[in-house]
Amino acid sequence: MPQIISGGCRCGQVRYECATEPLAVTLCYCRDCQQFAGGACGNFVVMPVSSVAVTGRIKSYSVQAESDRTISREFCPECGSPLFATTSNLHAVTVASFDDPSPYKPTLAIWLDSAPPWAAAPPDIPQFPRNPPLSSGQ
Ligand SMILES: [Zn+2]
Ligand SMILES: [Zn+2]
Repeated sequence: MPQIISGGCRCGQVRYECATEPLAVTLCYCRDCQQFAGGACGNFVVMPVSSVAVTGRIKSYSVQAESDRTISREFCPECGSPLFATTSNLHAVTVASFDDPSPYKPTLAIWLDSAPPWAAAPPDIPQFPRNPPLSSGQ
């Protein structure tokens, strides 16, 4: 049964709701995610694009991922909170923007090739040097 997940940016200008089963919860250590998140990795819940309803204004920039896909990085133009990373078929939502992030334990860690040496991924989840096979990550 799909759960309703709600969240938004720090200032409240952007709100979203999704009614879906998350496909994965990723820790992505690629440089794009590091720069988007301002930390050692990006932490996202990945879901189908069609399942996310957004209200408020978002701003975005596009990056070409090493996998050759174009990723749109979306954030609140008022407070700067990172919110979404979207491709043509996937919507990755930052776990920190959820109203309640606590249920979303990471299920895989990806792009460890570019992780800082001091940033270890949790040892009990699958880890991949780059994108996993049959990628649902960034
Ligand atoms: Zn905001
Ligand atoms: Zn990434």
